[in-house]
Amino acid sequence: MHRLTGIGASPGVAVGRAVLLMQSPLVLRFPIQPGQVPGELARLDDACERSRQEIRDIKARVARGAASDLGYLFEAQLLMIDDPMLAARARELVSGELVNAEWAVQQAFEELSSVFAAVEDPYLHERRGDVADVAGRLRMNLGRARGRGVHLFRDVEEGSVLVADELTPSMAAQVDWRKILGFASDAGSPTHHTAILARSLHVPAVVGLGSASRSVPPGALVVIDGASGEVLVDPPEDLLAEARRRVTARPRPGWEPPVPLRDTALTADGVPVALEANIELPDDAAAARSAGATGIGLYRSEFLLAMTPASAVTEDAQFAAYRALAEAMAPGPVTVRTFDLDDSQVRSWEAGAAEPFDARVTAGTSGALGLRAVRLSPAMPEVFKAQLRALLRASRHGRLRIMFPFVSGVEQLREAKAALREAAAELEARGERVPPLPPIGVMIEIPSAAVTADLLAREADFFSIGTNDLIQFSLAVDRTDARVSRLFEPLHPAVLRTLRLIIRAASRRRLPVSLCGEMAADPDLLPLLVGLGLTSFSMSPTAIPGARAVVERLDTAAARRLASRAMRQATVADVARCLARRRARPNGTTRQPAADTGGTSGSR
Ligand code: PEP
Ligand code: MG
Repeated sequence: MHRLTGIGASPGVAVGRAVLLMQSPLVLRFPIQPGQVPGELARLDDACERSRQEIRDIKARVARGAASDLGYLFEAQLLMIDDPMLAARARELVSGELVNAEWAVQQAFEELSSVFAAVEDPYLHERRGDVADVAGRLRMNLGRARGRGVHLFRDVEEGSVLVADELTPSMAAQVDWRKILGFASDAGSPTHHTAILARSLHVPAVVGLGSASRSVPPGALVVIDGASGEVLVDPPEDLLAEARRRVTARPRPGWEPPVPLRDTALTADGVPVALEANIELPDDAAAARSAGATGIGLYRSEFLLAMTPASAVTEDAQFAAYRALAEAMAPGPVTVRTFDLDDSQVRSWEAGAAEPFDARVTAGTSGALGLRAVRLSPAMPEVFKAQLRALLRASRHGRLRIMFPFVSGVEQLREAKAALREAAAELEARGERVPPLPPIGVMIEIPSAAVTADLLAREADFFSIGTNDLIQFSLAVDRTDARVSRLFEPLHPAVLRTLRLIIRAASRRRLPVSLCGEMAADPDLLPLLVGLGLTSFSMSPTAIPGARAVVERLDTAAARRLASRAMRQATVADVARCLARRRARPNGTTRQPAADTGGTSGSR
């Protein structure tokens, strides 16, 4: 057995046979049965023949054009396909190691590439690029037969666990989670969208493992413990039996009958605290209701695109999805965040008309600071306005609220509101009845928005604090990078001061303010947040019952004293000690002299 330790990203235990996924390049590795070998070899032969034909066509095209003297490069590529170390070696791996053809090609490519890398001759050294090109073409042609997304997992056995180098949110949204019981990945952090999605789907997950995808053999029996962050590979019988006892049945999304909405939670001294849900899929509304959510505080609408080809996400299809969600949560409110994507994601989604787009949603440094979310709307007004028209139409069927992500200042809020007015005018021009505009909110998740929250508060109807991005940008810590996840500190005094600034700005204008980052899901932090003046939170449905229990035991005067004390601390460790001291008291409250009861914000 070997034991790997990462970061627990979604609680629960899963036990299953490992299936490996390499996103860079995208290669799935799984064991096959001896009876499947002939079929797998036939697919490989077919991909070789297709690739030969394509390369011959490219060579002929090149010969007719300005670079006619480069035809020899493709002659060399044709020879590479038939090199005994590529296709023939892949055939050998399929039959000898009983692995799927895509993986066999990847393995053969890596072996051949290392031979080229080792030779002194600079010409041969350079040929590695051609080998990569040929291997990529073979994989693409194998992929054509198997497809992507959900189809990619078609031949994977039920009861598997996925071990990936990286699992992007869009790929995670396409995984068939009835077959895949849990996942472990080399990259990632608890606030990465994939981890958030895993929690809402109740899929046990461990991320930030570093090199699990290289050390776990396909088909190995794997235990994933999403609470402790441990992954056991081929554990002995006693540990396996113990893990199996701890496996919990996963609620199947969408099967629950609609349950009545719970009443708003009240603190011990009678202050109402709204506990709403963050969801990524419209089907999650049922899970949110049964978890006791009184509304949806954040629907990450871009996941609608991750799961569906562009041609199918029409204005009408969006209208149907938003309306169904509003009706599923009635009479509770539903806050739809407009698409939080970057331009390359939108383009790849639009370009791949027949395929769901396969790009990272708002994660990583490439998209995180680029042409993203509301910044994108002037460049791609039609994508944005189709969404706004759909939202306006759906707002007639429930309590919809529209929220703009990634607003950095008042100009962007004005632009987004202008687009909304244009969308309303377009509906009117089509002869449709336009409802009164729904409440318009701003996600406060960029430090510049936090600092100008008083200005934004004059022009918005509500705020929702996105601590996942706010912390990453305030502390300059990439939230998707496991190597720095230790520095992602919700209790950093800078973060607490920023929160206080936003809450005070909202409070002065009596603007509702909620917190929808993952910080809300940590029951240990809730008393501090209530003490800072927040009385509305949105979190993964799974975190709601725990949050309700904390709220019901909480005394708001004591929470304010706690916040007051925490705000005076200089380091994360000191703040954490304040919170730990509160937890150690029998009723979880703090006793302080009257002079310390001022609180830190105008709680409403
Ligand atoms: C946030 O940034 O805190 C947030 C809730 O949005 P996301 O995690 O989708 O970026
Ligand atoms: Mg965000």
